[in-house]
Amino acid sequence: MSIAGKIDELTGQLAGHGVTLLAVSKFHPAEAVAEAYAAGQRHFGESRANELQAKAEQLPEDIVWHFIGHLQTNKVRKVVRYAKVIQSVDSERLATLIDSEAARLGVKPDLLLQVHVAAEDTKTGFSPAELLEVAPRLRDTIRNARITGVMGMATNTDDVARVRRDFAAIRELFDTLRTGLFADRPEFATVSMGMSDDWPDAVAAGSTMIRIGTDIFGSRQY
Ligand SMILES: *Cc1c(COP(=O)(O)O)cnc(C)c1O
Repeated sequence: MSIAGKIDELTGQLAGHGVTLLAVSKFHPAEAVAEAYAAGQRHFGESRANELQAKAEQLPEDIVWHFIGHLQTNKVRKVVRYAKVIQSVDSERLATLIDSEAARLGVKPDLLLQVHVAAEDTKTGFSPAELLEVAPRLRDTIRNARITGVMGMATNTDDVARVRRDFAAIRELFDTLRTGLFADRPEFATVSMGMSDDWPDAVAAGSTMIRIGTDIFGSRQY
């Protein structure tokens, strides 16, 4: 199916569920993004700072860029310049650095706190316990950026029960923060979970944003 066809299909499937589609365009050319854009897609995800910059500079200004990759501190300035949403906030130090760059640039990015519940240790993010420990400090010290929710991934496995358990754990952590520490922050409303292979389970578990790459753009060239 064409890129536009996939966007239409996914948008139709998500209609009425209150779920935003993030099209993950990493490792795909700007032309592919332009095709999705022409089909009405506005939220795009990138995982490398230089690639984000190159695409942002040549594509329409009303694209909302999300950064979803591991963010090294020396790339923070570039990412804050181009991304409206940084989904991969995985340390207190990174959050603080993003916040000071945001002040310097006069921008107000949205931050998702990345939580690690999957079995693989290669995946980054706070453990649920760490997240609950740092969240009060982040809430009180981050001033320019806005903390708008959590992002997570399920274990990469055929074991559907495990995948569902991971999504339920991410959603539960989100609810704990939303109804507790962030109860007076209506912007804390996003739980980003679900990818090409597992998004229906993520939506069933209460995702509000799915991040789809392969299913829209085809396989990536590494
Ligand atoms: C690459 C990536 C995706 C998209 O994965 P697909 O399986 O291609 O849909 C989603 N989220 C994150 C954090 C990613 O790095």
